[in-house]
Formats: sequence, structure tokens, C-alpha cells
Amino acid sequence: MMNVTDMLKGKVAVVTGGTRGIGFEIVRKFLEAGAKVALFGSRQETVEKALAQIKEEKADAEVIGLCPSLGEYSEVEKAILEVKDTFGQIDILVNNAGISARESIYDYSPEEFDKIMTLNVNAVFYCIRASVPFMKEQGGGSVINMSSMVSIYGQPAGCGYPASKFAVNGLTKSLARELGRDQIRVNAVAPGVTRTDMVAALPEEMVQRISSTIPLGRVGEPEEIANAVLFLASDLASYVTGAVLSVDGATQV
Ligand code: NAD
Repeated sequence: MMNVTDMLKGKVAVVTGGTRGIGFEIVRKFLEAGAKVALFGSRQETVEKALAQIKEEKADAEVIGLCPSLGEYSEVEKAILEVKDTFGQIDILVNNAGISARESIYDYSPEEFDKIMTLNVNAVFYCIRASVPFMKEQGGGSVINMSSMVSIYGQPAGCGYPASKFAVNGLTKSLARELGRDQIRVNAVAPGVTRTDMVAALPEEMVQRISSTIPLGRVGEPEEIANAVLFLASDLASYVTGAVLSVDGATQV
């Protein structure tokens, strides 16, 4: 049986949106599993704060923080190259950064729709596009995209968010088929309602209503999502590709 501390030994991982919430838990989990990690955040200040907390918890953590604008391919390409130059390789890419909105279609501005698509879809493509040539050259890799349970059910307002997560599943399944021959696995994790800032922004009444429909009787914890990502990133998932793994307590909306 493999110890958690050895699961990613010698691997280098990029985690987007790694400064808080689910992404931060993934960074911590990957470091615990022996990986070197580059976390991407949206602001220098939050990146510094996340790095400081990590160093406090694990002084010997091999971690760097960058804040490329994920909506600009040239910036993403530059950041991925910087990770490769710093750590010598890129084995794992976690496309976690994402935003949500719940506007009704009657109030939904085209600008807001574009903003969601830029981060939740375009940036996923950009990060994959910039990373996979290195993975191919190294003989393989693992890409994990953060989807959502809304990619299965849709949601009754804020159509841009589920649309973006359906697109994430499409990228995942298509690229798993395209990149299999290069030994690059591509999977997605579809969390249910998880206790992060994104959920804190929802009306409490809505969180409770959702919780009451969940067979496990509660919302998920960020660490429970990170555990699934760790599995998919590791060699324990060596024959898993093209999967969208639900981590949602069997939520039925
Ligand atoms: P969060 O809001 O707590 O964190 C989002 C992360 O994305 C942050 O690190 C933030 O810095 C980053 N980010 C936001 N805008 C960015 C930008 N413009 N450029 C770069 N980075 C940016 O969210 P979370 O709940 O931890 O969600 C993480 C992922 O999980 C998202 O893709 C989200 O869609 C997905 N998800 C979350 C839930 C949930 O209930 N929390 C459920 C299903 C899926």
C-alpha cells in the first residue's frame, strides 16, 4: 500500500486558483504527497499570503506562486515556461480556478457571460495547450479539470456557469481520447456543494435546502475534493482517463 507521503514523490504540479478554497487544499495535499507545486493566483497579495501559510505549516515545502492573467494565452505560456525552468518538468496540471454567477437570463450581461467563459473555459484550454507539449516530451502526465455537479444537472439561474462546466467536461473527454497515445491522462472532478467562499456567497437558505437533498446529509469539505484530485493525479489512477468523477455525496437536484 502506497503512503500518501509518497503518492506524488518526484512530481511537479501546477494548480490554478491555488490561493484559497478547494485549490489551496489541493496545493497542501500535493505538498503532503511529496510533489513540488506551482500555485497560480489572481493577485500577488493573495499568492504571497498563501505561500506564507504553506511555509508556516511545512517549512521545507517546494512551492512557488505566480499570478499570470489566465485569460491571456501569452501570460499563461510564460508562467508555464517559468514553472518548467524552475522545477525542470511539469507532470500534473490542475485547472481549478473558476468563477460563478447566478443572474437570471433577463439580467445576464454579455460581458458577464464572456468573463465566466474566459476563466472557466478559455483558461483551461490555455493552460492545457501550454503544458501538454512538456508532458509529451517527458513521456506522460496528468491533467485534472475542476468541473461541477451543475455539469450534470444544469442550474435554474446563472446559465453561464453550468455551460462553462459542460464545456470543461467536453474538453476533458475529447482530450483524454486525443492525448492517450502520449500517455497523458485527462480527467475531471465534479464537486457538489463544498464549503468554500463560493458557497459562503450563496444565501444560507439555499445551502440548507441543497444540504437536505444530499444523501450524505451535508455539504462537502475542500479536503474531500482534494483527496479525489490526488487520486487522479497519482499513479493509482494509471488506467483512469476521460472520467468525470462526482464527489457530491450522491446529490440529486
Ligand atoms: P473560490 O472562490 O474559493 O476560489 C476560486 C479560486 O480561483 C481562487 O483561488 C481564486 O484566486 C481563483 N480565481 C478567481 N478568479 C480568478 C482569475 N480571474 N484569475 C485567476 N484565478 C482566479 O472557489 P472554490 O469554491 O474553491 O472553487 C474552485 C473550483 O471548484 C472552481 O472551478 C469551482 O467552479 C469549482 N466548484 C466549486 C464548488 C463549491 O461548492 N465550492 C462546487 C463545484 C465546483
